[in-house]
Amino acid sequence: MKMSIGRLLKEPGAEEAYSFIMEQDTLQHDEFKFLQPVKVQGVLTNAGNEIMLKGSIQTRVEGSCSRCLEAVQQDISADFDEVYALEELPTEEPEIDLGQCAWEFLMVSLPVKLLCSPDCPGLCFHCGKPLKDGACDCQKDQIDPRLAALKDLFK
Ligand SMILES: [Zn+2]
Ligand SMILES: [Zn+2]
Repeated sequence: MKMSIGRLLKEPGAEEAYSFIMEQDTLQHDEFKFLQPVKVQGVLTNAGNEIMLKGSIQTRVEGSCSRCLEAVQQDISADFDEVYALEELPTEEPEIDLGQCAWEFLMVSLPVKLLCSPDCPGLCFHCGKPLKDGACDCQKDQIDPRLAALKDLFK
């Protein structure tokens, strides 16, 4: 989504609001699935010697718990701002790539680590069973972790 800012550039102090959505099926991410279109809105302001971009992003994503790998959904909502010096902008048909800018801010707004619950106990080291469902059989007959590591080698 590129926005032409020719008109905005002519008038110091002028503001121009924008809003657009990025459809889920156009978005690709290795770790997260987008459950909703990404809504982006904000305003561009001509601040005299620079263009100020303010905006907010909203969507909902699904990823996996970093301890037990269960699917976890999370709302994402983030504000961003950016400043473009006038001399950085092309003089012929000046425009700002809001889609690219919003995408970059979205990427840094995604959680680094998702947890299904703050105290998720994760998976059993031996059998891979999620421990929040209760203790697995391994905990009844404890395996020496050094032997377990050897066992893994032969899998
Ligand atoms: Zn979990
Ligand atoms: Zn186990």
